[in-house]
Amino acid sequence: MLEAYSGISKEAYKPQCIPCCRQVGLKVKKASYEQSLKNMIGFDMTIDKRLCSGEQRHFEITDSLINAIKECGIHIALQPIFEVKSGEIFSFEALARWTHPIMGPISPDEFIPIAEHLGHIHALGLEVLSQACQFLTDYDKLFETRPMININISVQQLTYPNVVEDILNIVKMYHLPPERIVLEVTESYPLDGGMKVNAVLEQLNRFGFKLSIDDFGAGMSAITSLFNLPLYQVKLDKKLVSESIVSQPCMDFLTYLCGYGRKEGVRIVAEGVEDEMTVSKLKEITIPYVQGYYMYRPQSPNWWLKAESI
Ligand code: C2E
Ligand code: CA
Ligand code: CA
Repeated sequence: MLEAYSGISKEAYKPQCIPCCRQVGLKVKKASYEQSLKNMIGFDMTIDKRLCSGEQRHFEITDSLINAIKECGIHIALQPIFEVKSGEIFSFEALARWTHPIMGPISPDEFIPIAEHLGHIHALGLEVLSQACQFLTDYDKLFETRPMININISVQQLTYPNVVEDILNIVKMYHLPPERIVLEVTESYPLDGGMKVNAVLEQLNRFGFKLSIDDFGAGMSAITSLFNLPLYQVKLDKKLVSESIVSQPCMDFLTYLCGYGRKEGVRIVAEGVEDEMTVSKLKEITIPYVQGYYMYRPQSPNWWLKAESI
């Protein structure tokens, strides 16, 4: 039950630039820190300092990212979406993770735009999809419930030739029905009619994939997107959710959206739920699905597969 998970907080991934000594597990005295490090791992600490910020960091990420994608350096973490009424896990959102050998964990907010810019986002997206399908297959063997899986898809990925075929092939390989996969698209530009991206999304939907608008209510989303695509789900941006707690007009808007969702069969998910007060306010306005640190932080596939009861 949702209540049962309240307050449980497991150690989660936090994007940060971890100093080299922690990265390589070395214990060195502060005074001899840089020299020891240079001797022991064969490079100068000053390089690492530069890697932690600015242009050098960008170059290093650019250089290493393709190898990380090719050589299984990208992993996923999974964060559940709960159905409020039943308290059950409705879906798991797959979130890409990358730990650079020197710089440590890099936030997807940093490496996803670089992957998009370099033209590697399709390869990365397929890798995430593949690991997510593997997780769902393993989960099905261990548990009786059949949750969905939410996959983040960049708009850029949708412009690749054969994107529909490639996505379909992966899902087929795992013998999973596309109906269990929700594709979350962020509106990095208005998803209005006539664009190639909409046609690709509609094609994926015809094969059974469910469509979700991510970060709804954040800067880039257009209200018209609600009417232009056969949407299964709308994910309310965490800023909109936290604003609704302090602003009655914003709460009224969410209440209206919930009514709209019920009428149109669009599932409304409140993202970024961090405390009990938010959960109870969202319950009052009958938000049907919630996701956030208050319930669970993203965890590795193994963590979920070893969980005693979920
Ligand atoms: P997103 O899709 O909006 O994912 C939600 C982000 O909010 C995640 O950050 C998640 O860890 C974080 N989050 C979850 N609950 C809470 C909460 O209660 N409070 C706060 N403050 N944050 C919360 P993460 O994993 O760092 O991902 C950042 C963004 O990177 C994602 O935002 C998504 O846009 C992108 N991303 C991640 N994985 C992928 C991927 O496989 N493909 C693509 N195209 N984008 C991805
Ligand atoms: Ca998302
Ligand atoms: Ca989001």
